[in-house]
Amino acid sequence: MPWIAIVVGLATGIAIWTVLDQIQTRQVDKIFDQELQIQLDLRARESLIRFDRYLSSYGATTRLLANYRKLSEYLEPLFWSDDEAIDPVIYKDFRPQWLPDFFERDALAPPSHVLLTDPHGRVREIFQAGSDPVPAEMAIQVPTQLLDRHDIRTVIDRLGERLYLITSDAAEDAGGYHMGYLLVLVPVDATFLAASQRGVDVGRASVALVDSDEQRILASLDPSLIPIDSFLSDWSATHVITSQSLPEYEGSDSNLLFATFVPQSRVERMSRHVRIFERRQRFYAAAVFVIVFTGLIYLVSSRLNKVLKRMTRFSQRALGIPEPGFQRGGNQLVLLEDWIQHFTQLVLKAREEMSRRHQAAMRESEALKAAMMEASLDAIVTLDHSGRVIEYNPAAERLFGVGRPFALGAVFVERFLPDVARPAFKRLLDRSRHRHREPLGRGELIALHADGAEIPVEISIAPIERVGERFFTLYIHDISSRKQAEQEIKSLARFASESPHPILRVNAAGLIVYANNASRPLLRAWNADPGEPLPEDWGTAVAAALETAQPLERELEAGGQVYSLLLAPIRDLGYVNLYARDITAVRRAEQESRQHQAELVHVCRLSTMGEVATGMAHELNQPLSAIVNYANGCVRRLQGGQGQPEELVGAMNQITAQAKRASEIIKRLRALVGKQPPARAEADLNHLVREVCSFLEFETSRVGVAIELELSAEAIPVCVDLVQVEQVLLNLVGNALDALEERPESERRLRICTELEDDWAQVAVADSGPGIEPEHLKRLFDPFVTTKEGGMGMGLAISQTIVENHEGRIWAESVLGHGSTFHLRLPLALPVQEGAGTRANVLEPID
Ligand code: ADP
Repeated sequence: MPWIAIVVGLATGIAIWTVLDQIQTRQVDKIFDQELQIQLDLRARESLIRFDRYLSSYGATTRLLANYRKLSEYLEPLFWSDDEAIDPVIYKDFRPQWLPDFFERDALAPPSHVLLTDPHGRVREIFQAGSDPVPAEMAIQVPTQLLDRHDIRTVIDRLGERLYLITSDAAEDAGGYHMGYLLVLVPVDATFLAASQRGVDVGRASVALVDSDEQRILASLDPSLIPIDSFLSDWSATHVITSQSLPEYEGSDSNLLFATFVPQSRVERMSRHVRIFERRQRFYAAAVFVIVFTGLIYLVSSRLNKVLKRMTRFSQRALGIPEPGFQRGGNQLVLLEDWIQHFTQLVLKAREEMSRRHQAAMRESEALKAAMMEASLDAIVTLDHSGRVIEYNPAAERLFGVGRPFALGAVFVERFLPDVARPAFKRLLDRSRHRHREPLGRGELIALHADGAEIPVEISIAPIERVGERFFTLYIHDISSRKQAEQEIKSLARFASESPHPILRVNAAGLIVYANNASRPLLRAWNADPGEPLPEDWGTAVAAALETAQPLERELEAGGQVYSLLLAPIRDLGYVNLYARDITAVRRAEQESRQHQAELVHVCRLSTMGEVATGMAHELNQPLSAIVNYANGCVRRLQGGQGQPEELVGAMNQITAQAKRASEIIKRLRALVGKQPPARAEADLNHLVREVCSFLEFETSRVGVAIELELSAEAIPVCVDLVQVEQVLLNLVGNALDALEERPESERRLRICTELEDDWAQVAVADSGPGIEPEHLKRLFDPFVTTKEGGMGMGLAISQTIVENHEGRIWAESVLGHGSTFHLRLPLALPVQEGAGTRANVLEPID
C-alpha cells in the first residue's frame, strides 16, 4: 500500500539522516579546524614574507643612497685622518646635500638617522630626521660586524630600548676610492610594521616582533591592542597566535620571532557562520535524500508486489501450491514471509527429490560403468595413488590371464609389466600427473601374461581426481595382431626387392624411381641408374602405356638374356610398374620347337611324297620313254643310212625337249623332298592349287576322277612358305582321293574352289566321299588320328600347325554318306610399299 511505503520511507530516511548528521558534524568540525589552522598559517606566512621583502627593499634603498652621485662628489675632496678626534657633524634641521629626499617620495617608513662613516666605521656625519638623538651604540663608532665593503648589510637589532633596522653599504668618492660607509637607521615600530604589511589582507589580525628568549613583544603593529613589552602568554587565551622565526641577520644580537595575532572571538564567529551554512546545506541534502529514498521504497514495494503476484501464479501453476493470502491484499511483508515459508518448504521438497534422483542416477551410472567395464574389449584397470589395482575388468582378466581376485590390490607395475617396460610406464604416469584430467598421448609397452608370454599393448592413462585423492585409469589395448600385421606389411614392402625377377617403377617423366636388385642387367642395357631417365624409346613406351591406361608388353635383350617386360600403368598415381621376366629359355625352346616342327613337317612331306612318287615316276617315264624312242629312231635311221640331217635334227630337238621336261619334274620333286629352311614368298594361291593338281595327275587318273577346279578369276596373293602350303594342299587332295576310293567310280567327284573374301584367301577341297563320323570329326586334327591302314594320322595335325603358323585357319565340314569339305583360310598378302621390301622367291609358273 502506498501510504505504508511513504511512512516507512520517511521514517527510515529521517533515522538514517539523524545518524549521518551526527557523524558528519563531527567530521565537519575536524575538517573546519584543520582548514582554519591552514588558513591562519598561510596568512601568517604571507605576512612574514611581506615583512622580509620590506626589509630587503631597505637594502636596495641604502645602495641607491650610497651610490648617490652627489655623495661621491661630496666625498671627493674629503680626507678623514685616522688620528683626528672624532666629532661627527650632525644635520638636524636640514637634509645634507649628499642625501636626496628619497624617503619622502617612497612608500617606505622614513629612517630616523642616516650615518656617514670613514672606512674604519668612525661616524663622521649624521642626519637626524626627528628629535631623537642617534642611539649611543652608533654615535661614535659603528660596530664593524655591521659593515661590509663588498655587500649590503641589513640587520634588525635593539639599540637602547628600541628596535632598529640598520642597513649599510660602502661609499666611494667620484674617483672610486673607498671613503667609508653609509648607514640608514629605521625604528621598527607600529608605523614600520604597518608599512611592511601594506597590501596584505590580515583582516583583524595584528603582527608583532617578539624576543624569542623572553617571549616579550618588542614591536607591535597596534600597540594599543598588543602593547609593547607585554608577553605572548598574556594573549594566548584571547588570540590565536602564529609565531615564526625571523631570518637571522649577521651582526644582530637579537633572536626575534615574527608573531601574527588573530582574536579568538573572530575565529569563533567565522566558525559559527560556516557551521550554520554547512548545516543548512546538509538539511537540503537530507530532505532530497529522504524524498528520493521514500520514492525508491515506494517503487521497490510496488514492483515487489507485482513480482510476488507473478511468483504466486507461477508457483500455483508449476508446483501446485495453494494460493497465499496476499493475493487478496494485506501487509506485503507479512505475506512475503508467508510466501517465503511456502517457498522454503518447496525448496526442501525439491532438494529431497533431487537427492533421490541423484542417487538413482548414481546407481544407474554405476551400473552403466559396470556394464561398460564388462563389455569393453579393452582391458580397463584403475590404480590408486600408490599404483595398486582397485578396479579390473573381464577384458583385463583375458589379456593378462590373471583373475580379478588375484589382481585387486596387486602393484600393477610389478604384477603386469616386465622390467624393461617399467621405466616407460613410469614416464607415462608422470606425464599424466602434470596433465590433470586430460587424457594422455598413448604409449606402447610390453605387458606380461600370467604364463610369462610378452604381449605388445597400447596403453593410455587418464588421471581422475576424487575427494582429494588421485586415481589413474589405464586403458590397455592388445596390439599383437596389429604388430603382426605391421610385420607382414613390412615384409610385403620388401616383396619387390626380394623378387628374383626385375621389377622397376618409372614415373610419368620417364625417370626410374625404383629398381630392385634383379633389375641390374636391364639398367646396364639401358645405361641408366635409379633416378635417371629411361632411353627414349622406352620412355615413349611408358608414356603410351600411361596415356592409354593399357598394359604393354615389350622385349629387351640384355647381357645375352632375353627379357619380356610388362609395362603396367597405374594411371591415377602417375607411374608405370615394369615387371620383367627372363624368357631366354622360352625363346630357345620355341626355336627348338620350330626346328622340330620343321623336321616333322619334312618327315611328313616325305611320307606324302611316297604316295606322290609313284605318279611322279610315271610322269618321268613319259619323257624318258620318248627320249628312248627318239634316240632309237635316230640310231635306226643312222644305221640304215637313210637319216636325213633335218629329220635327225628334229628328233634330237625332241630328245632335248623331253630331257628338259624330265629335268623339270625332278627339280620339282627335289623342291618338295628337299630339306629347306622355312621361307615365305608371295604367290598366287590359284597357281599353288594348279601346281598341286599337276603333282597328283597320276593319282587322280588312277582313282579315275577329274579334279574340278573352280578358281577365282583374279589372282589371290598370299605370302606363305610355298613348299609348306603345297604340302597342306597335297595332303587335303590326297585324303580326298583316298576317301573317294571307297565310293563307286561313278560317284567319285573332287572339287577345288578358291575365292577371295574380305582380307582372306580361301580354298575349299570338297569330295563326294563317305564323309566323317561326327565323333571322329571332333578329333580330326589331333595327331595320330587315322582310319587308314598304315596311315600315320599326322597329315591333318601337321597341316593345322602349318596353317596356324601362317595366322590362318583350317577346318572340316562333313555330311556322313555325302562327302567332306576341308576349308583353308590364309591372310591376304599386304600390298608391298615400294622399296620397303622384296618380292623375292616368286615362283615361276611350271608350265
Ligand atoms: P592319314 O591320312 O595318315 O590317316 P590324316 O591326318 O591325313 O592321316 O587323316 C586322318 C584321318 O582323317 C584319315 O585317316 C581319315 O579317316 C580322315 N579323313 C581325312 N580326310 C578325309 C576325307 N576327305 N574324307 C573322309 N575322311 C577323311
